[in-house]
Amino acid sequence: MSRVATAFAALVANAIVAAAACAADGSGRNVILVTLDGVRIQELFSGMDATIAADDARSGAEDIAVTRKRYWRDTPEERRAALMPWFWGTLAPSGMVLGNQSRGSKVTVRNPLWFSYPGYSEILTGQPQPDVLSNDLVRYPHETVLDYIHRKLGLGLTEVAQIGSWDGFKMAASRADGTFFMHGAFEPVPAALSTPEMDVLAALRGEVMEVWEESSNDTLTFRIALAYLRKHQPRVLWLGLGQSDDWAHARRYDLVLEYLHLVDSQLAELWRTLQSLDRYRDRTTLIITTDHGRGRTPVDWIDHDTGIQGSQDIWIAILGPDTPAMGEASDFPDVTQSDVAATMLQYLGLDYRDFNAAAGPPVPRSFIPR
Ligand SMILES: [Zn+2]
Repeated sequence: MSRVATAFAALVANAIVAAAACAADGSGRNVILVTLDGVRIQELFSGMDATIAADDARSGAEDIAVTRKRYWRDTPEERRAALMPWFWGTLAPSGMVLGNQSRGSKVTVRNPLWFSYPGYSEILTGQPQPDVLSNDLVRYPHETVLDYIHRKLGLGLTEVAQIGSWDGFKMAASRADGTFFMHGAFEPVPAALSTPEMDVLAALRGEVMEVWEESSNDTLTFRIALAYLRKHQPRVLWLGLGQSDDWAHARRYDLVLEYLHLVDSQLAELWRTLQSLDRYRDRTTLIITTDHGRGRTPVDWIDHDTGIQGSQDIWIAILGPDTPAMGEASDFPDVTQSDVAATMLQYLGLDYRDFNAAAGPPVPRSFIPR
């Protein structure tokens, strides 16, 4: 081997070592957390639910025959693929999906309240927080995983971001105002960070009517997040969407399903966008989960709260370069909502015990050091 070739070989070897170290310490890795409010395991794992579909009146569907035609199939596998084709056709085979209790994988919330703010607080702080007892729009003093990442990695204001359709997301994201970019339901994007596209989208939120006044439209939120990703390329983004909960509370099962079908296409677009950007391609983990489940019966599927059985049952999906292509978990250790924060941190090379000694551990087998 010539001296040039030897030097070149040494360079290549160094590059390989550097690349391995890069993955191990999480530098250059990114994490995107998407939460879909109140999405039940029944729809996620089995598509259109036989129990609800069998009770036309209590489904609240405008025309259940149309809904059946679109989403009813003979088997749960066919139904969920019809409902969420990207999730089941692309994410699941390349990543991992936890929470299908019929296959021996259980994910539950640990907080006893089974509604939104306690759930988001548990996701973001790694444990149930005894003082989070309502959905009131207030901050709590607990450091969140977003706060911790921002502090520990010394990231700038735009490098950690929260964008969501409900102001509760903005409150739950950090223990303090202004820690990093946090975007509520109806506010404009600050001029220094905005683009004309973001301005139009943010303004439209005030014109598009929603079921509940406190939430803005998820598609607009999603598109603001996508524009923000392209422009500012944050290391960590939490995208909080909520219409799955709204349509269920309104007892419109047809629109719950239409919404899940729509959000599936948006998740596909998000993933395609990530893979099209140098910053994110092959170095970004997508984690998708929910804050709570809902009731299991034709009467109470619309609701969730302490005592409404089924509200405690949730799911977690992970797709990324450090996660095995495990598919749907079966005969898997029990996992809880408290384990999401530590799972996020491991992809960034951070130790959850330094974040919160009481936090749940990372999801088992969700990280393969390379
Ligand atoms: Zn709700």
